[in-house]
Amino acid sequence: MADTDEIRYTAAEMRSIFLEWRGVEAPCGTCDGSGVRVYGSTATWRGGVGGQAVTTGVCDACWGSGDMHRKYTNLRAVESAIRDSKRTALYDAFVEHIAKATGATLEVLGGPSRAALEMAADLITKESRRRNLPEWARGFWGQRAMEYTAAALREAATFGKNKE
Ligand SMILES: [Zn+2]
Repeated sequence: MADTDEIRYTAAEMRSIFLEWRGVEAPCGTCDGSGVRVYGSTATWRGGVGGQAVTTGVCDACWGSGDMHRKYTNLRAVESAIRDSKRTALYDAFVEHIAKATGATLEVLGGPSRAALEMAADLITKESRRRNLPEWARGFWGQRAMEYTAAALREAATFGKNKE
């Protein structure tokens, strides 16, 4: 060891240097301050369906900061907000289409509008079970079309409900 400036650190010293370098004051209990963790599937923090491979991904407790008191952006919340905005856009298009097709306006989807959508869905369901159905409604696809329309109306009645 003549001309080397080699410095040897213990594991504990290495860890504390690493944490200091990352600016971590209170190490996250899930990732121990690394900001990453190992997941059992390729879906990582998204959960649900993913490939069966152990995968390293951003820690879903601190979202990568490594610090339990200074979390980074919650990616799950971001993804959910994106999903909601797409849902809203889809809903707006649906309402506009229905309004144009029926000549009605559904600008504010309050209680009465929701009730109307649910009533329409119930009516379609009731009609689909009638004995003297017109020709088009008797077959498999006619029945499916009515089921899906009723389901779409019921789904539409729930849109934006949490905003009220
Ligand atoms: Zn963490």
